[in-house]
Amino acid sequence: MGYKLAGKLAVALCTCGWALCVASVPLASLFPQPGLARGLVLAAAAVLLLGAVFLWLAFYRCPHCGRLLPLRRDSGPGLCHHCGEKLP
Ligand SMILES: [Zn+2]
Repeated sequence: MGYKLAGKLAVALCTCGWALCVASVPLASLFPQPGLARGLVLAAAAVLLLGAVFLWLAFYRCPHCGRLLPLRRDSGPGLCHHCGEKLP
């Protein structure tokens, strides 16, 4: 998996995870046991957030030096923060 795809998937998983966290209270109120439902929704959100962290740690790496790329890349357009090589 390339770093671009991993970054996009990690952002998507983070967004969905946070949306589930925010929506856990109104979603849980729809079920007869709101406490249990909220726990299940928060567990699903935690799985999504952990998946995002895994993708970031495992695949969001420079293809040249293999080091972890920062989440915000301020080192210039398409340059590795560590080795300075151009990212494809
Ligand atoms: Zn690099």
